[in-house]
Amino acid sequence: MYIDEKGNKWFKGNLHTHTNRSDGSLSPDEVLMQYKQAGYDFVALTDHRILSTKRDFQGMLVMNGCEFDNGSADFRAGVYHIVGVGLNSDPEKVRTKRNAEPQEMIDAISNAGGLAFLAHPAWSFNRPDEVKKLHGIAATEIYNTFSGAPWNKHPYSGEFIDMMMLDGYIMNCTATDDSHWYQGEQCRSYIWLKAEECTTEAIKKAILAGDFYATQGPRFHHEIEDGKLVVYTTPAQTVTFFTDTGYEPDNVTHGYFVQRAEYKIKRKSFIIRYEITGINGEMGWSSPIRIEQ
Ligand SMILES: [Zn+2]
Ligand SMILES: [Zn+2]
Repeated sequence: MYIDEKGNKWFKGNLHTHTNRSDGSLSPDEVLMQYKQAGYDFVALTDHRILSTKRDFQGMLVMNGCEFDNGSADFRAGVYHIVGVGLNSDPEKVRTKRNAEPQEMIDAISNAGGLAFLAHPAWSFNRPDEVKKLHGIAATEIYNTFSGAPWNKHPYSGEFIDMMMLDGYIMNCTATDDSHWYQGEQCRSYIWLKAEECTTEAIKKAILAGDFYATQGPRFHHEIEDGKLVVYTTPAQTVTFFTDTGYEPDNVTHGYFVQRAEYKIKRKSFIIRYEITGINGEMGWSSPIRIEQ
């Protein structure tokens, strides 16, 4: 937890991870110990088709969760992995179903009081035109560590989020580890979340309000000042702005110790997001920001 200069509390959490209850290599307690030692405030255990139990682990909040999927291994037919977190009841029928439709999984999670996250859309080859038809997705993973080398492919979903964004669909962005084998993918990608207290209800509320950001290290926030989007960050090498315009000289701010970067909001721009590359290459990702003009 850290407290920012305005006195807000920020909690560190991972919303997607596995244990040996499905295809992970460690027991739930071994997994939780790793996150506890890395300073996490909350973790959701989200084994495939198995709903975990909410509990406290040495002062760290363990949210319940489960990774639903539609059982398809055919990217052309459509692969959907939907992570449900913070459920008040168990939608067992859909949870254990092998060929559930994505909207059916999202609705089952929502009806149980949980939040539904679209997991690793780049890995799943999710198509913007298909995802646009879905309702009730709380956020999606702009980065999923375990989907990257040397374990897998397509960890980064920025292009998918940009295509959604250009059509006016804001998908708030999380980063998760999706840890399975605990060979270095754990405790790498996470969110900082602003809330009064670290409880399941407060976390769900903050996620729905967009009060969180995805990172591997950089801490940052932004303000809109005099027609500019101004980013304040812990020391970084690059801040990159992703918008609906082409080349602009202020698309990228690069240097040795960047702590402030600004992007002049162009007349037509209605949506912007940004990424930060920290001193050692660790990334930070904002969610898309809707600009009122
Ligand atoms: Zn998955
Ligand atoms: Zn997973």
